[in-house]
Amino acid sequence: MNIKELLIEDAVADSWITRQAQTALPTIPTRHITQEESRTLHKADPDKDGGCRLLLAKQRGRFLKLCPGYQGSNCCAYFILHVINGCPFSCTYCALGAVINSPFLTIYANTEDLEAELERNVFNPHTKIHRVGTGQFSDSLALDYIAGISPYLVELFASKAKGFLELKSKSNRVHHLLGLDHGYRTIVSFSLSLPQIVEQEEGGTASLVERLKAAATVQEHGYRVGLHFDPLVEVEEWKRRYNEVVEMIDDLLDPEAIVWVSLGTLRLDKTLRYRMRTWNPSTTLDLAELQKGYDGRFRYLPELRFKMYSELTSRLRRYGLPVYLCMEASRYWKKALGWEPRTPLDVKGLLDDWALNRWPRGWRSGPAADAG
Ligand code: SF4
Repeated sequence: MNIKELLIEDAVADSWITRQAQTALPTIPTRHITQEESRTLHKADPDKDGGCRLLLAKQRGRFLKLCPGYQGSNCCAYFILHVINGCPFSCTYCALGAVINSPFLTIYANTEDLEAELERNVFNPHTKIHRVGTGQFSDSLALDYIAGISPYLVELFASKAKGFLELKSKSNRVHHLLGLDHGYRTIVSFSLSLPQIVEQEEGGTASLVERLKAAATVQEHGYRVGLHFDPLVEVEEWKRRYNEVVEMIDDLLDPEAIVWVSLGTLRLDKTLRYRMRTWNPSTTLDLAELQKGYDGRFRYLPELRFKMYSELTSRLRRYGLPVYLCMEASRYWKKALGWEPRTPLDVKGLLDDWALNRWPRGWRSGPAADAG
């Protein structure tokens, strides 16, 4: 990644993350800025400005945000830990560009506030169990070589009796997680795409095989793994090609240490649909026949979605893998999975149950303290 400048807000000048980033990027020009200067710079046009700047900032809002899901879909009550904003990878279909209004990659370095928030809302023995992830506004592992956020969070969660952390990635950089005392509280998840989609649409990411090998490596070190087929993309012979991926999972991974597999077909918001070709002229995603859905996003026609979900679900279940649908309406659940959630709490309950109770034989079972 070509970082041309490191910007450090005064408010986080003394943070350990700041020290770590300066050590990791010793030759990158560094500038200390006030909050006011940070605000002004945020208004800069990233296209004109060019290059990539890394900003170490204070999170002034909440770190923990409930995943908004999509209107009309079943939400699993997932908590996003907003500690990184922006991603060094460039997936054509990524919705971040529409959500993030900043020319920087930003790491929020006020970890005392982060810990206080987690303590109140996740680690507190009186709260319900929560699944928390850092992979919504960035790739969870891609910036670890600079700031070490994931190892820090893995050890933080390991020291508590509540909550599960999910790190979600398209990279294969997992070496820094291997020696950690993770206390079985971190799930390392990988997004899986067909090799041709990785090549064509997921700039800068690891190949499918590299991701699966990384998943096998973390399993060997006692982490449970999550897999996310998101987005599922229709290509010629999609059935055969996705079945090959499922067979690769079976070859390389221990299915009992896979805590969940999510499925979600391609979805594009209007701006993304019409602008993606300017970012990636070789994309084919915008050529698909899409239909505007209940949430304003464009998806494949229902019949194709039914087919893709049903095919993948039956293949994955053959290997004993636990499948759920991400951001889909109940009727798709019913057709593909054979049951439909009656309330969002049903989906939360399902995923909490897997997080607590799905363990390979011979591993320790879920911590009893989490029974509530
Ligand atoms: S890895 Fe995820 S966050 Fe990063 S560009 Fe791709 S879809 Fe967006």
